[in-house]
Amino acid sequence: MSLSVSSKKLFGTDGIRGITNEWFTPEQVTRLALAIGSFFEEGSKLLVGRDSRAGNSFIVKSVMSALLSAGIKVYYAGLVPTPALQYYVKHHDFDGGIMVTASHNPSEYSGIKVIVNDGIELPREAEREIEEIYWKRRFRRTSWSALGRDVKSVNDVNEFYIMGVLKLLDIEKIRRQRLKVVIDPANNVGALTTPKLLRAIGVKVTVINGDLSHLPDRQPEPVPENLVEAAAVVKALRADIGIAHDGDADRAIFIDDKGRVIPGDRTAVLLCRHIVENRGERKPGRVVTAVSSSTLVEEILSKYNIEVVWTRVGSIDISRTMTSLGAIAGFEENGGFMYPKHQYVRDGAMTLGLMLELLSTEKRRLSDLYDELPRRYIIKTKVPIKNRGDAVKVVEELKVQYRAERVIDVDGIKVIGKDYWFLVRPSGTEPVMRIFVESGSEESTKKIYNDIVSTIKDLLG
Ligand code: MG
Repeated sequence: MSLSVSSKKLFGTDGIRGITNEWFTPEQVTRLALAIGSFFEEGSKLLVGRDSRAGNSFIVKSVMSALLSAGIKVYYAGLVPTPALQYYVKHHDFDGGIMVTASHNPSEYSGIKVIVNDGIELPREAEREIEEIYWKRRFRRTSWSALGRDVKSVNDVNEFYIMGVLKLLDIEKIRRQRLKVVIDPANNVGALTTPKLLRAIGVKVTVINGDLSHLPDRQPEPVPENLVEAAAVVKALRADIGIAHDGDADRAIFIDDKGRVIPGDRTAVLLCRHIVENRGERKPGRVVTAVSSSTLVEEILSKYNIEVVWTRVGSIDISRTMTSLGAIAGFEENGGFMYPKHQYVRDGAMTLGLMLELLSTEKRRLSDLYDELPRRYIIKTKVPIKNRGDAVKVVEELKVQYRAERVIDVDGIKVIGKDYWFLVRPSGTEPVMRIFVESGSEESTKKIYNDIVSTIKDLLG
């Protein structure tokens, strides 16, 4: 998903990404940050943070240099998780923040996330505005006489975040359970907060891939193929649970006591149930998630009269829907979980805190809780398409074929049948259609999948 310079769109699903020193050069980053700085009003206060990726040593300096030139008051938080920066911006007198991170992308990538004063990433319309400033080079250059102040350091961002998470948890209950936890922060900023949080609670902690001083030992995306080592350590130490973050620690993927990497929408279902049943939070009776999540969440939460609102794929859409409608939680199937009592964004440490509270309250093992969820057979794959027009044809045809079923068409097409669901949607980053199928049996999952593929073949040849 390397960006081409001719492309008018700079922002992807979450922020701007590119390969360090290929597209993300000092010149390029300066131009981007001039556009971002010009979007905010002159004199705005922005908090800048970064993860420990190789390129961010120079990128963060280019960002701050351009912001100063555009007349922004710049504050520097240093190495922080994205949710820590977001929490700090929300609770202090800042107009926004910039996080220099490529999140879960491979190590050669760098990126920029832009946050506004409520701690959430920019709304989509604001992304378009920044792109326009960038392409038209309508940069604001402040007068020399308005300069005169340097970057100020802010040193308590991680501490403030940890305290914020601790405040919301039943610490005593978790401490009494004497849990053993393995943490894999992908040699990045989660190593600065998650172990401290757990030690403050009194949990026994083992950290792997916790060293920020060298290139990462694993790829940053917390998916099973990158978590083989973490899963082995959980088993070898007989730990109660393992947790893996992505590069900027807004995602939390869990490994159970049997060493299984649990899909993010499954743990989210368990956490939503914990929030309702054990924490007694039933209002507003709503959970927000993207169409790529399993319908298990509806199945489980309908018992508590909690409605599920389906959004487009992308955490910003989930966050913004939560703020406008109200919700007890929101999540993505990739391990991004949002607990609005803390903040309306994905939040790795808060998610872990809730998981430990769940295990301590119910005195259960994660493997048992996971095995109690209805069993589903899943196919997740993608098929190539030539262009956007192909995607529209496929979606329209499926809408006709499945018109008797419940159809959600906010992003591609999601069909929810009696004992199955599927999603067919065009990827935002590659010329492919993504296909997710889930049902109660292997045969029926395969059959639904084959039906979809033959529809696509008939249409596109
Ligand atoms: Mg991330």
